[in-house]
Amino acid sequence: MFLSAANNCIYTIIQHKKQISNIAFMAKRILFIDRDGTLIHEPVSGNIDSWDKLQFYPHVFKYMNLIATEFEYELIMVSNQDGLGTEYFPYSDFQPIHDFIIKAFENEDVHFDAVYIDGSFKEDKSPNRKPRIGMVKQYMNNTDYDLENSFVIGDRITDVQLAKNLGCKALWLHHTEGKGMTEITDTIEVLRAIALSLETKNWKDIYEFLRQKNS
Ligand SMILES: [Mg+2]
Repeated sequence: MFLSAANNCIYTIIQHKKQISNIAFMAKRILFIDRDGTLIHEPVSGNIDSWDKLQFYPHVFKYMNLIATEFEYELIMVSNQDGLGTEYFPYSDFQPIHDFIIKAFENEDVHFDAVYIDGSFKEDKSPNRKPRIGMVKQYMNNTDYDLENSFVIGDRITDVQLAKNLGCKALWLHHTEGKGMTEITDTIEVLRAIALSLETKNWKDIYEFLRQKNS
């Protein structure tokens, strides 16, 4: 694993040997997966900056393991972490918990091919902050990747907006649709019509949806 930081944006690339596939020449499909609210619970307010706030999403290990082992997708984590690297949210509060999360998934055979984290605040209007595409634009207009058949999995409407901005579809995992409404550039009706493939409260539905797509 190596890590570099630039412009409040961390790029962590986790290199691992994936089994060489006999369809390696085909454009790769991606699951862009949000972290807080999706893989782990999001606290009512603030960031995951202490261990007592860490709680994994129910059944996420079971279904992420099935997704990672049964289907051919690159797994890319894309997360906004407001104020990361500032006094408000120092790396020392973030990194050990984040590394633990990554390791917990690796123990269940879920290996993220890359992890992108933007540390800006909403007010900064950073091009890297979701739903903007700065962190993942290298996957666009790239013949190595098949974004049309790729998905964003996330809990905020901004994750659905990211899917539209990337030209893929969203699997929206949420209990409340209010989160992120002030950061979208399309209406929720447009996003539902154009970018949404599934809306659910549980990981089982996400797995079942992908299983159908891959059958
Ligand atoms: Mg989230």
